[in-house]
Amino acid sequence: MTTPHVVVVGAGISGLTAAYRLSTADAPCRVSLVEASNRLGGKIATTPFGGVMIDEGADAFLARVPDAIDLCRDLGIDTNFISPSSKGAYVVSRGKLRRLPDGLMLGVPTQLRQVVTSGIVSPLGLLRAGLDLVKPNNWDGEDESVGDLITRRMGSEVAERLVDPLVGSISASDTFNLSAQLATPQIAEVARNHRSLIRGLRQLQKEREATNLPLFYGFRGGMSVLVDRLAAELTAVDIRTNSEVNAIEVRPGGGYRLATPSGSIDADAVVIAAPARIAAPLVAPYAAGASQILADVEYASVSLVTMAFRSSDIGNDLDGSGLLVAPDEDMLMTAASFGHRKWPHWTGDNDDRIVMRVSAGRFGDDRAMHLDDDELVESLANELAGLLDIEGPVLEWRVSRWPLSFPQYRPGHSDRIALAESELVATLPGIELTGSSYRGVGIPACIRQGNEAAARIVERFASA
Ligand SMILES: Cc1cc2nc3c(=O)[nH]c(=O)nc-3n(C[C@H](O)[C@H](O)[C@H](O)COP(=O)(O)OP(=O)(O)OC[C@H]3O[C@@H](n4cnc5c(N)ncnc54)[C@H](O)[C@@H]3O)c2cc1C
Repeated sequence: MTTPHVVVVGAGISGLTAAYRLSTADAPCRVSLVEASNRLGGKIATTPFGGVMIDEGADAFLARVPDAIDLCRDLGIDTNFISPSSKGAYVVSRGKLRRLPDGLMLGVPTQLRQVVTSGIVSPLGLLRAGLDLVKPNNWDGEDESVGDLITRRMGSEVAERLVDPLVGSISASDTFNLSAQLATPQIAEVARNHRSLIRGLRQLQKEREATNLPLFYGFRGGMSVLVDRLAAELTAVDIRTNSEVNAIEVRPGGGYRLATPSGSIDADAVVIAAPARIAAPLVAPYAAGASQILADVEYASVSLVTMAFRSSDIGNDLDGSGLLVAPDEDMLMTAASFGHRKWPHWTGDNDDRIVMRVSAGRFGDDRAMHLDDDELVESLANELAGLLDIEGPVLEWRVSRWPLSFPQYRPGHSDRIALAESELVATLPGIELTGSSYRGVGIPACIRQGNEAAARIVERFASA
C-alpha cells in the first residue's frame, strides 16, 4: 500500500497542529499544508512595535487546560512561558470607569460582598443575585445562552453589567445569543452540577487557587513563538502558501482532488482547518445539509489598535490589566488592555512609555471596520483620553484588522456541528473539520481540535 496523503487546508494554529501531529504520527503519512495567505499562523501574528515584538491578535492562552501546554512541551518551548504581571480590571458601566470587584469568575461574582462597593450592580440587583444561593436548580441541561443562564440564576443586572462586558468582549458577542456550553463551558458545567452557581464557582475557584497555576501563559517573543516553532518542526510537510483551495472533488477511484489556482492536489484525506464559511462551499456539492449548517455560522469583525503614550501624560495610574466596556455604553471601544502592565517588557527600556491594545467591533457593531485607520485611532484615543485622563498625544500606533474573525456560537452550535460532521462522515469520509468555527475559539481549543482531527485520520488509515 502506498503512503497515504493528507492535505490540511489552512495554516492557522488548528491546521499547523493537525499537520504537526500527522507528520509525527507513528503510522507514516505524507502531509501537505495548503494556505491561502502568504504567511503561517492565521489569526496569530506578532510584529515589531516600537522595537518590541507585540502581538496583533492573541497574546496569551488559558493555562488551566492542558492542550496548548502539552503541545508546547512536545515542541520544547514550555520553559519559555511568561504570565501577565497585572491583576484586576475595570469596566465602563453606567457612564463611569469602575473597578471590577475581586472574586469574579468570567464576570460571575463568587463573593457578593465584594460587589456591594463596586457600584456596578444596584442593591436590588445584588439581592436578586443572592437568590441563586437558595433557588432550586431546575435547569434541564439543554444548551442555552450565557446571558439567559446567568439571568435565570442571578438576575439581569449581573448578566448585563458584569458577565456581558467580560464574556461578550472576549468573544465579540452578545452573550444573550452565545452558547454557554461552548463559550463558558466551566459555568455551564457548574450550572449543571450544582444547585447554586455561586457556591459551585466558589468551589471551582478554591480548587484552581490550590493548583497555584497562573491563569494565562504567553511568550516574551509573542504568540508567534508557538507558530514559528511548529513551522520549524514541519520539515517533512509540503507547505504551500498563496494557495487558496477553492473546490474539493471526489475522485472516481477514491480520495479527493483539491483545486487551487496553481493546480490540483490529490489527497486520501483532508483536514479543513479553515472557517466554516470557507468550508461550506467546499463540501456543498456532496453534503448540502452540512454545508448549510456551516454557511449559517455568523462572524464578528474586530479591529485592534496598539497605541503608545507617554506615561507622564496619563492621570490615571492604570492599576490593572485593562478595561472592558459594557455594550450599552455607546462607545466604539469594546476593551483596552494595559499592555505595559500585563507584559512589562512591551515598553522596552523606556520608563516613560506605556503601550495599550484597544479593541473595537463586536457582532452587530461594524462601525470600526468602516472607519479608515486615522479616524479609528483618533476616535479610540479620544475615548481613552476621556476615561483615563490622558493629556498628551498618541506617540505611535498600529491598526490590526481582523474581519469576520470571531465565530458566533449560538445556543445549540455544538449539536449543529455534530450533525454536519455526521453527514460528512457518511458522504465525504476522511474529510475533517477543525478550528475556531467549530468547537472553541481559544488557542487551546483550536489545538485540541487539531490533535483530534489528526488522530481520527491516523485511526482511519490504521483500520483501512
Ligand atoms: C484579535 C484577536 C485576539 C485574540 N486573542 C486571543 C487570546 O488572547 N487567546 C486565545 O486563546 N485566543 C485568542 N483569539 C482567538 C484565536 O486566536 C483564534 O481563534 C485562533 O487563532 C484561530 O485559529 P484557527 O486555526 O482555527 O483559524 P485561523 O487562524 O483563522 O486559520 C485559518 C487559516 O485558513 C486559511 N484559509 C482560509 N481559507 C482558505 C482556503 N480556501 N484555502 C487555504 N487556506 C485558507 C486562512 O488564511 C488562515 O490562515 C483571538 C483572536 C483574535 C482575532
